Formats: sequence, structure tokens, C-alpha cells
Amino acid sequence: MMSENTSESSCPSGHSCDTCGGKCSDEKRQLHENLLGVKHILLVMSGKGGVGKSTVAVNLAMSLALQGFATGLLDVDLHGPSVPKMLGIESKTLMTDGEKLLPIETANLKVMSIGLSLSSPDQAVIWRGPVKYSVIRQFLAEVAWGELDYLVIDAPPGTGDEPLSVCQLLPWADGAVVVTTPQQLAATDVSKSLNFLSQVNFHVIGIIENMSGFACPHCGEITQIFSKGAGEELAAKYHVPFLGRIPIDPQVCVAGDDGKPFVYSYGKTATAKAFAQIVDVIINRG
Ligand code: ADP
Repeated sequence: MMSENTSESSCPSGHSCDTCGGKCSDEKRQLHENLLGVKHILLVMSGKGGVGKSTVAVNLAMSLALQGFATGLLDVDLHGPSVPKMLGIESKTLMTDGEKLLPIETANLKVMSIGLSLSSPDQAVIWRGPVKYSVIRQFLAEVAWGELDYLVIDAPPGTGDEPLSVCQLLPWADGAVVVTTPQQLAATDVSKSLNFLSQVNFHVIGIIENMSGFACPHCGEITQIFSKGAGEELAAKYHVPFLGRIPIDPQVCVAGDDGKPFVYSYGKTATAKAFAQIVDVIINRG
């Protein structure tokens, strides 16, 4: 966490991460300088696809914005960017201020995604690891993020080049939120994510159990329709915080398809309240 880092390294950027003792490359220094105004950085990851990781990233970012925090959302899912579609900004054109790329501003969020620079949503991105690292570095170093309380980063599922690049480029970030579903089958995938984070020495903020029970759209009562508890069990097993459960709500899917952030459009639902509670846990963690 930037604001709590007490390192005494003398990085010329003024940043106090402890990775190079003030000897980092010009490229890394540029990245540090560009993110000096960003107080907290959260990486959202999952062991596998389809567990609702992008949905969680978008709605966590939007919940933070709704609570009055200046918030950015960076989509580094280079092969399957879904953030622009979920926020209804896929037809927006990226601009620069002459020096830096300007994030798209929507509903009080600053957003950047590779999806905004593709000529069509069907365009396939075919890049190897070093190119992905370089693109992610540019997203961090050459986008005008400005002053932010939170920058939420949505990584693709698994433990590939994209989350690895983020962990290597941002060793001072607050850490990672791992999204899973309640079924025991998800356990192996989450274990891989947690082992990955441990190996790259990246802090784990905690585990979120998404699609946990069904929230009745009429009364908000939560019914357990599948097995439950895998996320909480894993959190206990790995001694990491359990951040909370987000129920299934059919409107989440509709909102995502319509490009309207769920917590923005359906703020009074049990599921939106679950997002707000998880945000409270994240911002108030010790
Ligand atoms: P991932 O990023 O893990 O691949 P997505 O965020 O794209 O997953 O979500 C996959 C699908 O599940 C989407 O259609 C999304 O709308 C839906 N979804 C995610 N979370 C929920 C939820 N809590 N309730 C209902 N649908 C959800």
C-alpha cells in the first residue's frame, strides 16, 4: 500500500517502494511517477473463467465510486476484455492529452481497456508474454490516471502473463482479491491463485465467493441453491481473509449485457448491498 509503505529507498520518482533501492530503470521510474497520485491498487483475479471475476471487478470499482472514492478501473484481460461491454463504452474512442492516453470517464469511473483500442470487438489479440508485459506497463505508465483513491485492475483468469506482469510492475500495490464460486470444485483453482500470489510475493487481500445463493428479486431473501462455503473454507485453510458472499441475481447478467453497471442501476438489491459490504471490508481492513 503506497501510503503505508515506510521504505527508505530514495527513488527519484519520489515513490517509496522497496524493490530497487533507487536504481530502477527509466521505464519503471516513469510508471512510479505516473501512479504517484494513486493511493490504493487492487488486483482482481480468479483461478478460472466464468466465476464472475470481471463482474466483481466492475461492481467493486463502481461501489467504491458510489461511496465517493475517486476510482479507476484497468482491464488487463488482453485476450477477452469484457469491461468496455459491461460499462457500455465499447464504441468510445481513446484520446490523448498530447502526452498521455486519457481514460474513458463513465459514471464517475476512469476506465482503460485494450478493448477500447481494437478496431472491432471480434479482433483477436495474438501476443506473447513480453508484448503483454509491455502493453500492461504502458497502461500503468502512459495513461493519465491522475489522483485516484483506488485503482482496480481486472486480470484474466489463471496465473498467466497478465497477473504476473501486474505483480512484477506493482510490488507496492495493496494486493489481490481472489474471486471464486461456492462449489468445492473451485478449490483447486483458487489454491493455484493463492500459491501463485505467494510465489510472486504479492499480498492477498482476501477471497470473495460469487454466485453464492440466489437473491430473490422480489423480497431479497437468499436461497442456497448449490453447495456453499468453498471460498470461506479456503480462506480459513490458507489463513487469508474471507471478504464476503455475492448472491446470484439475474439482473447482474442483464445489467452486464446492457452495459449498465449493476450496483449503479440496482443499488437497493441484496446483491448490490453485498458488494457495498465487501467494499466496506476492503477499505476498513487493518
Ligand atoms: P469471468 O470474468 O470470471 O469470466 P464474468 O464476470 O464475465 O466472469 O461473468 C460470467 C457471467 O456470469 C456473466 O454473464 C455475468 O453477468 C454472470 N454473473 C457474474 N456474477 C453474477 C451474479 N452474482 N449473479 C448473476 N450473474 C452473474
